[in-house]
Amino acid sequence: MFSCSLGDPSQAEGSQGCSCCGGELQSVTRRINADLSRRGFVAGLGGSIAALGLPRAARAQNASDPTQPIIFTNFLLFDGKSNALRGGLALIVEGGRIKAVASGNPTGPEGARRIDCGGRIVMPGLIDAHWHSIFAALPISTLLGADVGYIFLAASAEAERTLMRGFTTIRDLGGPSFALKQAIDEGLVPGPRIYPCGAMITTTGGHGDMRPLSDLPRSPGGPVSSMERTGAANIADSADEVRLRVREQLLEGASQIKLVGGGGVSSPRTTLDMLTFSEPELRAGVEAAADRNTYVAVHAYPPAAIQRAIDAGVQCIEHGHLMDEPTAKLMVDKGVWLSIQPFVSDEDTVPLGGQSRINLEQVIAGTNTAYPLAKAYKLKTAFGSDMLFSPEKATRQGIMLTHLTRWYENAEILTMATATNGELLALSGPRNPYPGKLGVIEEGAFADLLLVDGDPTANIALVENPEKNFLIIMKDGKIYKNTLPS
Ligand SMILES: [Zn+2]
Repeated sequence: MFSCSLGDPSQAEGSQGCSCCGGELQSVTRRINADLSRRGFVAGLGGSIAALGLPRAARAQNASDPTQPIIFTNFLLFDGKSNALRGGLALIVEGGRIKAVASGNPTGPEGARRIDCGGRIVMPGLIDAHWHSIFAALPISTLLGADVGYIFLAASAEAERTLMRGFTTIRDLGGPSFALKQAIDEGLVPGPRIYPCGAMITTTGGHGDMRPLSDLPRSPGGPVSSMERTGAANIADSADEVRLRVREQLLEGASQIKLVGGGGVSSPRTTLDMLTFSEPELRAGVEAAADRNTYVAVHAYPPAAIQRAIDAGVQCIEHGHLMDEPTAKLMVDKGVWLSIQPFVSDEDTVPLGGQSRINLEQVIAGTNTAYPLAKAYKLKTAFGSDMLFSPEKATRQGIMLTHLTRWYENAEILTMATATNGELLALSGPRNPYPGKLGVIEEGAFADLLLVDGDPTANIALVENPEKNFLIIMKDGKIYKNTLPS
């Protein structure tokens, strides 16, 4: 049996295979290899496209040739970290990365395309640390009832619009975004980089449990609901079930895990005071994620939910709007991230009624205490927009960012949505699907950048109208938009 030809690269695709396994093992191995490749475990993403004979990036609008080096000149640089703008520089982009931030006017590399930025501002592409690429732009009734094929096609269209708003990377905090991520990475459709959690994992009756009551009762080990089958949310009611669901998301390629620690605004059957997972259940999830060297983010609003999550070893709190001073102190002591969203009025969500409306009002009130606490305790604070269930609301991604002027200077806001969010993404460690620097413009970083017609450090409102004000949008060294007047 050791003469089996498995793994022999000379073995032609589709061959009959060896006598010992009848070719069956070979085809399984090929399938697993293709799967590993799409999730970035094997170098050379896109190889699978070539193998399929599909045209690479067939419809990537007027995207530039990513192999041609580009030199940007005549700009002021906001590098993501420093408040001050720097001039007198040239930016060399090659192979999808920032090859150099050079002073003066370099001549090389050979064959480079030169772009004179006319004195405008170059900044890193924006990062949204709490986005739902599948749920952002579709009404909840559609998400619960439509053909899943339609849902993915709509999400793909929204992914392109997300990129065209200048968000070159998003952290997806719940939803079946793995296939969309794969299609974007392979160049089949334009969209941002996606750091997927996969299904949000919740308890029976917790935030995200959108099952019809006719699905009850569920018996342990019984058939899963349609919501679970599509990967929108998974129900777990014991430490063992949490481990199972966490491991499934990791198998799908999750870069981090999302557990739900309490109630949520868009789940009208929940209240914000309630707790869901017990501490041992949360800890089971944290351990299963840690075994794969990544982390758990927990959806939590009130102090009790936040404190329980931290006691269980969670490294990032999503939302946290109802936190109090002892909770903020605990977070800073433990080095836990706060991934919070500036909900300031009901304009920031679709119209809500009933308990959802009550929950929203509590969140809006909490926004006004949580941000000052985050500032006072110097919490590691990420920006996210968490837009849901409406194509119109999804367009407010940049407007959500400018809500932060209530508490922060413009340059601090831009840093939060670039370099700081980039630091949070790096928490995925070896499970980071895009290892490399994101959210900064410096040598070696991914070439994700915007050319802004105006100075966003002086006028942050420019990010509210990306169509007009973002003249160039580049991701991975490729220009997806260029309306720079020639
Ligand atoms: Zn969310």
